Amino acid sequence: MAYDRENIFAKILRGEIPCEIVHEDDHVLAFEDINPQAPVHVLIIPKGAYENMTEFAKKASAEAKTAFIEAVGTVVNLKRIDKTGYRTIINNGEDSLQEVPHLHVHVLGGRRLGALLST
Ligand code: AMP
Repeated sequence: MAYDRENIFAKILRGEIPCEIVHEDDHVLAFEDINPQAPVHVLIIPKGAYENMTEFAKKASAEAKTAFIEAVGTVVNLKRIDKTGYRTIINNGEDSLQEVPHLHVHVLGGRRLGALLST
């Protein structure tokens, strides 16, 4: 399926919808999740048009991949959850219930998180 340029994160990247930025560089944007599931809930997205991790793994440059991983380290340091611990989640496709078809990693922390899967 072709990348949907009207998805909400594409609109955030184009500045059409506001977000609360946590971190930004040439390759990534990190912002607060609008419906936080923990005291810290940040989303990190690549600036390139990738629907999910499968596509990103196949098509993104090494530089973009490095930046995506490094952004996790930057965000957990900025949010001071590097020592207390955190969880990263990437939903991909239908079975994962991915809502927004632009690759994003959830960074969650700031409290003791529950079981990995609820059902
Ligand atoms: P997923 O189910 O993995 O696709 O997660 C999508 C996430 O995007 C959810 O946690 C939503 O709360 C979040 N979200 C949706 N719209 C916005 C928005 N405009 N700004 C920030 N986060 C959003």
